[in-house]
Amino acid sequence: MAVNLSQAEENQFAHLKEDYANKGFIVTKVDDLINWARTGSLHWLTFGLACCAVEMMHVGTPRYDVERFGAAPRASPRHADVLIVAGTLTNKMAPALRKAYDQMAEPRYVISMGSCANGGGYYHYSYSVVRGCDRIVPIDIYVPGCPPTAEALLYGILQLQKRIRREGNIVR
Ligand code: SF4
Repeated sequence: MAVNLSQAEENQFAHLKEDYANKGFIVTKVDDLINWARTGSLHWLTFGLACCAVEMMHVGTPRYDVERFGAAPRASPRHADVLIVAGTLTNKMAPALRKAYDQMAEPRYVISMGSCANGGGYYHYSYSVVRGCDRIVPIDIYVPGCPPTAEALLYGILQLQKRIRREGNIVR
């Protein structure tokens, strides 16, 4: 899968490449360096709740090779930077989701994957389902679909990287 960089990103890298070719070293700002490191190490916590989780697993397979973007699955919230909420969040499961989020170190990011996580989906009027996981944790990126494809989740991860670069804050 080809990754298209925006013109601004192309310019940024062209400038760095030129600097490196001319001088053999690169001068940059510490916050740029930290944010570059952040975008290249988005280790995601597997929080599969329902059918969307199958597509989330799919994105971790060699076909999509998400690790080339520095994103690798982690089984512990203390090792993870991104929480991917993949599936239907029930009232019963909501405290566990919040607990996993609270155990993650800052800066932490959350991707809401699929209609159920985004707003309850098919089960919006069910007595047992949370009508959007943004009622429990703050969301950075919403990936639409039922289920979203693995490509859509991959695109969501790239959008998150773009957002981190754009915000450019060290402290979140
Ligand atoms: S959005 Fe669709 S595929 Fe995803 S958990 Fe809900 S019903 Fe399943």
